[in-house]
Amino acid sequence: MTYSYDPQNIFARILRGEIPNKTVLETVHTLAFHDINPAAPVHVLVIPKGPYVTFDHFAAEASEEEIVDFHRACAQIFQMVGVAPGGGFRAITNSGADGMQEVPHYHLHILGGRVMGPLVVR
Ligand code: AMP
Repeated sequence: MTYSYDPQNIFARILRGEIPNKTVLETVHTLAFHDINPAAPVHVLVIPKGPYVTFDHFAAEASEEEIVDFHRACAQIFQMVGVAPGGGFRAITNSGADGMQEVPHYHLHILGGRVMGPLVVR
């Protein structure tokens, strides 16, 4: 399986500084910023800086350093935005057509600040 990365996707443009973002945290391999259309009081997107299309792509092909950096960044963000330890949160990643992914650069949604409701529409 090979993955095809579109370097013109909106998060690639954010990473190149072509589009502004409201940064929450930046590390060597990871950027986190507020979602432009928040679905909850806390809605942060965490993205790797590397060109990974989906979670499965990142999990399969990112370096150990990138994977550790991403998740340690998440740990900092949970505390920074006040969801954990605390009220809790939901972390979602949409992948591909069935996942209804809109932006083809891997991103983790961190949602919180209210009860998030059922997991999915059945
Ligand atoms: P997904 O459907 O999982 O691909 O989610 C894409 C998310 O990116 C949506 O929640 C959008 O609101 C968000 N988004 C799109 N453009 C921007 C942007 N320029 N800055 C921040 N978030 C964005």
